[in-house]
Amino acid sequence: MGKGFFSVPVAVNEPIMGYAPGSPERDAVLNAYNEMFNSKIDVPLYINGKDIKTGNTRTMSPPHDHQHVVGTYHLAEKSHIDDAISTALEARKAWSQIPWEQRAGIFLKAAELIAGPYRAKINAATMMAQSKTVHQAEIDAACELIDFLRFNVQYMTDIYHDQPESTSDAWNRIEYRPLEGFVYAVTPFNFTAIAGNLPACMAMMGNVVVWKPSDSQVFSAKIIMDVFKEAGVPAGVINVVFGDPVMITDTVMASPDFSGLHFTGSTFIFKELWKKIGNNIHNYKTYPRIVGETGGKDFIVAHKSANAKQVATAIVRGAFEFQGQKCSAASRAYVPQSMWEDVKKYVIEDVNSFKIGSPADLSNFITAVIHEGSFDKLAKYLDQAKADSDAEIIVGGGYDKSKGYFIEPTVIVAKDPKYTTMCTELFGPVMTIYVYEDEAYAATLKLVDETSEYALTGAILATDRYAVEEASKALQNCAGNFYVNDKPTGAVVGQQPFGGARASGTNDKAGSALNLLRWVSPRMIKETFVTPVDYRYPFLGE
Ligand code: NAD
Repeated sequence: MGKGFFSVPVAVNEPIMGYAPGSPERDAVLNAYNEMFNSKIDVPLYINGKDIKTGNTRTMSPPHDHQHVVGTYHLAEKSHIDDAISTALEARKAWSQIPWEQRAGIFLKAAELIAGPYRAKINAATMMAQSKTVHQAEIDAACELIDFLRFNVQYMTDIYHDQPESTSDAWNRIEYRPLEGFVYAVTPFNFTAIAGNLPACMAMMGNVVVWKPSDSQVFSAKIIMDVFKEAGVPAGVINVVFGDPVMITDTVMASPDFSGLHFTGSTFIFKELWKKIGNNIHNYKTYPRIVGETGGKDFIVAHKSANAKQVATAIVRGAFEFQGQKCSAASRAYVPQSMWEDVKKYVIEDVNSFKIGSPADLSNFITAVIHEGSFDKLAKYLDQAKADSDAEIIVGGGYDKSKGYFIEPTVIVAKDPKYTTMCTELFGPVMTIYVYEDEAYAATLKLVDETSEYALTGAILATDRYAVEEASKALQNCAGNFYVNDKPTGAVVGQQPFGGARASGTNDKAGSALNLLRWVSPRMIKETFVTPVDYRYPFLGE
C-alpha cells in the first residue's frame, strides 16, 4: 500500500435466506436448478485465464439421479499441469507485487457477486452436484463462502497491522510476503465453500495457485471460477485442473517451485500427500507449507443431568443433516442408561419423520450420498451391523441405489464401545450409540478420548456444571471444536474457527488469521537512521 492506511468493510456474517413457500429466493433457486438439470454444460480446465478443452471427458450426474447426465468435464494430461505451474509462476511476477487493497477489492467483489447475482446459481449447482437440500446449499455455497471471503479480507489487514516495536533510531517493519513459488489446493466434494476458500485465501495473500477440485464437485467448482473471473482474479493466479489426482499431484509435487499444500479431504490421502512432499524434500527451493483438514469421528456425550429431548435433537441434527457427510457430523454418541429409553423414543420418532428424495423437492430433509463408492461402503457396514450380535439397528438400515444413492438414516446401538462403527469414519447417515451406566461417567469420558484416532468435533450435553467442567478437561485433546449443550456441527466463519488435531488435521483453523498466516513468509526489515562508523564499543575504552 503506497498512499493510505485503508480500512476494509467490517465483516458481518451473511444472513441465511429461508426459502419458504412463495418466497422469491425459492422461485429463483428452483428455476436455476431446473435450467441446469435440463441442459448440459461442458466444463473446461482453466489455465492462464483460458478455457482448455482436452477432448478427454467424463460425464456428470446428480447423486440423486445417477442416470441423468447434466454435463461433461475435461480431464488434464501431464502437459496441462506443467502449463498450469508455469503460467502460475509467470502470473506471480505481477500478482505478488500488487498492493493488498487491489487483492482485497477482487475478493470483496466475489463475495457480493455470490450474495447477489450468483446466489441462486451456486446454490442450485450445489443441490444438484452434491445433493444438498436448499438449506444446506444456502449455508454452505452462499453464506459460508461469502463469509470466508469477507472475513479473510479483514484478517489479512489484521495480519498486516501486526508490526514490531521500533525505537527512535531504528524503524522495524514486517512485510508479509507471499510464499516463493506456487501453491496447490486440493479440495473435497462436501463443501462448495471449502472448495472456493482454499484457493481463494491463498491467492488473497498474494500467492499463485493450482487448484484441483474433487471429481464430485466439478459442477459447483465451475460456478466458483465464473465468480472469480467476473470479480477480476487475473489470468494465471488461480488455475483449475481436473483429472487423475495421482498424476496431477505427482506433477505438482515434483516441481522445485512447489511451496505449499492446502488440503481438505480424508486422512489417508492427506498422509499420502505429506509422504510425497517428504520424498521430494531435497528438490524444493523452500520448505513447503502443509495445511490439511481431514477426517473425524465426532462425538456427543450426554450426562445424566442433560435433557433427553435436547440430546435426541443434537443427535438427529448432528448426525443426519447432509446425510452425515460433514466432517463435523456426529457419528458416535454416549448416552446414560437412565435417559436412554426417552432418547431412543425421540430419535426413532424424528428419523421416521424424515422425507427422503431429490433436493429439488424442498420437503425432503435427506437426499442421496455422494457416489456409488460411498453408497456401497455404507451398505456393507449396514449389512455387517445386521449380522453382528454386538450391534443392533434400532431405526433405518435400508438402502436403494436404483435411481439415486439413497441410504436410510440409521441408528446402531453398540454393545461394545469399540464396535467398528464407533471408531471408523463412515461419512454417511449412520450414528452409533453406546449406552453407559450413569455412574461410569468418568470412565466413559476416558473411553471417548481413547476410541478414535481423530480429534475434530465433539459435544457435551449436561446441566450439571461440574459435569461440563469434567468433560471439558477429560476431552481437551480430542476435539479441535468442542460444543457445550449443542450439536457438534455448523461452525460459522468469524465465530467458530474450524479445525481438528490428531489424525483430523493440522488444525490451522479455516476462516481465521491463523490459517492465512500459513500462506505468508514474513520479511523483517530493520532500518537504522544513524548508521555507526566505528566498530569500537565504549567498554573497550582504556
Ligand atoms: P477425499 O480424500 O476422497 O478427496 C479429497 C480430495 O483429494 C479430492 O480433490 C480428491 O480428488 C483428492 N484425492 C483423492 N485421492 C487422491 C490421491 N491419491 N492423490 C491426490 N489427491 C487425491 O475426500 P472427500 O471424499 O472429497 O471428502 C470427504 C473427507 O473430507 C472426509 O474424510 C471428511 O472428514 C473430510 N473433510 C474434512 C474437513 C475438515 O475441515 N476437517 C472438511 C471437509 C471434509
